Amino acid sequence: MVWRALGRRFKDRINVPFSPADSEDPTEAEDAECLNDDEPDKNRYPWEDVDKARHNPRLQRKHPPGEADKYRVMAKPCPKCGKASGELAWFYFESPKWTWENLCGRAGWMTVCDACHMQVDFFLEVMS
Ligand SMILES: [Zn+2]
Repeated sequence: MVWRALGRRFKDRINVPFSPADSEDPTEAEDAECLNDDEPDKNRYPWEDVDKARHNPRLQRKHPPGEADKYRVMAKPCPKCGKASGELAWFYFESPKWTWENLCGRAGWMTVCDACHMQVDFFLEVMS
């Protein structure tokens, strides 16, 4: 997944901007690209970004669980362990700031099976 690879590199660069071991082309961070929606198998978001959104109290307060009620009828159970959708973790996901600046931002409701560490469903609400 293009986003996963470039997103991480992008972040590493911010964390260690002057590392002498960083031999990457300095222009590379500008190559950040969007997820390819045509590849359903890869239509998963980087866990780093998912966890960040999930544990962002401001974002979660802005989107109370009742907002997701309209998706509950179509939510799938975990394909791996079969856990019902109602027992999965529900939270609002918002992709990182750079994805919005690159016009590939995504936000919506996500279900996660914590036992299988799997993103089960994503109900897109906003995109840039
Ligand atoms: Zn599961």
